[in-house]
Amino acid sequence: MIANIPLEQYSAWQAQPEGAKMSGLKQELVEFLVQLGATNARVTTRERLTGPPSTDPTYVLPSAHSVIAFNIALDRDFIPDYFGKVSRLPFRYEMYRGYQAVGSIGRQMADYLKSRGYQAFGCSPNGVYRRESKPGFLIPDFSHRYAALASGLAVQGWSGNVLTPGLWAAAFYGSVITDAELEPDEPSSEVICEKCKLCTLVCPPQFFSAKETQTTALGGKEYTFSLRRNHQRCGISCAGFAGLSRDGKWGSWSTGPFGTPENDDELFEFNRRAMQDPQNAHLVSHIYPTIVDRNKGDGVLRRRLVDTNPTCCNCLLVCSGPRPWREKLVKLLHVSGRVVWEDNQEVVKDRDREKSEALIHELKKVLPQIC
Ligand code: SF4
Ligand code: SF4
Repeated sequence: MIANIPLEQYSAWQAQPEGAKMSGLKQELVEFLVQLGATNARVTTRERLTGPPSTDPTYVLPSAHSVIAFNIALDRDFIPDYFGKVSRLPFRYEMYRGYQAVGSIGRQMADYLKSRGYQAFGCSPNGVYRRESKPGFLIPDFSHRYAALASGLAVQGWSGNVLTPGLWAAAFYGSVITDAELEPDEPSSEVICEKCKLCTLVCPPQFFSAKETQTTALGGKEYTFSLRRNHQRCGISCAGFAGLSRDGKWGSWSTGPFGTPENDDELFEFNRRAMQDPQNAHLVSHIYPTIVDRNKGDGVLRRRLVDTNPTCCNCLLVCSGPRPWREKLVKLLHVSGRVVWEDNQEVVKDRDREKSEALIHELKKVLPQIC
């Protein structure tokens, strides 16, 4: 194990010129991350992360110089059944595993760097926000997506998710922030997003636009993606309180029997009503307070498996393979029906069983080719 590097090897490393030492250290850290379970890892620096507030690593570690961005691939076997409303249990396990893996890899990497005399911090993969956040605009302590873009680990997708070769958007991201001076990798110029806009067809609250764009400058480079609306749109859907499509024919796994209002000014009142709706009582009385209470500090890492409650992530999961795969997933979602809370359990209504099962069968047949 690299963490137990022999003394003579460590002394040889110490004796190298500074440049070679840093480049050797970077390679060693990246290899160590992969040994720990990361799919890929690349490096960027504080200077290359100048941009929106969540790109500033000194917010997390005042002495920050470098950021090691890494990702882990998500299993994709569960996606047809999840989109077809057969079961969301496998995604519950996969989401829990993915978050815990990112947290554990980040912590072990930070511990290793500290054992080498550096300052380091492994960020939580999700759910930690800055004090200055507003309900409609949550600002993470540090953005893993921006670190992935600046380091070339991933490229921008229309949905706002980042895409990486072979995985598309089906990955979770993490970052280790350190004062070690590591050589940065270049951002990638690879084009992965085909601007098919299929991701816009699976977002029940229509959080992001199919036509309009917004641009973010990051380290002097511009990234353009879909224009986002009030962040509460995604928040209320992902928390499971509302997730019905505009036409009411399909939905996420959310049990809230309503679509999100078109007007952003109505969101606050809408969210209040959705959280108090009897259909969502199981969330309010059990899962939701548990998540909020336990999330202080470590975000989703404090969340137990039983409290892990994926209801959407559709924009991420639909972009998990080539275009024919994505098109079938969109079709499947649109005939999958909607979920209600009945007799103390989730019940799927209005599912077109014949079409759903045919599409699930076709998707599962091509799974081995895309994974
Ligand atoms: S679904 Fe299409 S448009 Fe959306 S991010 Fe993926 S490739 Fe880009
Ligand atoms: S997670 Fe769901 S609600 Fe949020 S942006 Fe993606 S598709 Fe829309």
